[in-house]
Amino acid sequence: MSHNELIEQTLNNAVEYARAFLHEGSVATYIPELAKGNAAHIGACLITPDGAQYHCGDWQQDFTIQSISKTINLIYALQSVGYEKVFSKVGVEPTGDAFNSIVKLETRNTRPLNPMINAGAIATASCCMNRPDPFGEFLNLTRTLCGRQTIGLNEAVYLSEKKAGMRNRSMAYLMQSDNILENDAEQVLDLYFRMCSVNVNTQDLAHYGLVLACDGVDPLTGKRLVESWIVRIVKTLMVTCGMYDGSGEFAMKVGIPAKSGVGGGIMGSVENKLGLAAFGPALDAKGNSVGAYHIFEYLSHHLGLHYFSGKACKI
Ligand code: GLN
Repeated sequence: MSHNELIEQTLNNAVEYARAFLHEGSVATYIPELAKGNAAHIGACLITPDGAQYHCGDWQQDFTIQSISKTINLIYALQSVGYEKVFSKVGVEPTGDAFNSIVKLETRNTRPLNPMINAGAIATASCCMNRPDPFGEFLNLTRTLCGRQTIGLNEAVYLSEKKAGMRNRSMAYLMQSDNILENDAEQVLDLYFRMCSVNVNTQDLAHYGLVLACDGVDPLTGKRLVESWIVRIVKTLMVTCGMYDGSGEFAMKVGIPAKSGVGGGIMGSVENKLGLAAFGPALDAKGNSVGAYHIFEYLSHHLGLHYFSGKACKI
């Protein structure tokens, strides 16, 4: 079997393996518009630096990026206002709590613990509020990183989040009262909800994962899109905090820097080797896609992608 056939076959097997677990999850309902997601959807896309692309299942299906936007939000903030400013507003430590938890804002520190949870992403977004068009710049960056200029906002999900986002609203007002947010909480929330409501597919996110895997350079064009020091920060936080309070288990079982979102996506990045994205709206209790999680796990085992797999790596 050729190298390409091996990857193709393994990806197909991964999707079939993962399909059997979909019944264990359910679609997110706390954002009413997300409840319309199809729990039977499952798909994946993998891209290597030579431009070879492999895909399977519902890989072309659009879904909202949700928390995967937190990584782009962080890149945007670090590029726009720099390290000192961003990390004066948000920390870099895992929480062990749910992605939408509010508890540590009061008991631990007024500064949210990391940019990969909701409170931390809202604080990160607030750093760019003084830019002339923060969402426009964020969207352009997303398009560039994903390699598709037609990426846009899912208006229905955005409005649904804005209406239902009372928990996020509570955190934002609490942070405004503690001067973590320097701007009006509603304006920051509006930017945050928009960032979460951008429509993508697995090809877009696999391309983005590939750019991260290649140190911020798009290997398909040779252009540097993100500075090295920022890429290193983002991938480190993906390892420690990218799967919320499931990050430790994911690191052990899968060992790929990754970020998940409640739209059902997981984006991953294997150093110098590939970008990977998987999708399935049925979520586990922690808000991670059951289907996408199992696809990552299968591929990690069968292609030797764990960061400590050493010689077992087949790519
Ligand atoms: N927009 C979602 C929220 O604020 C993002 C959460 C997620 O993907 N985990 O709750």
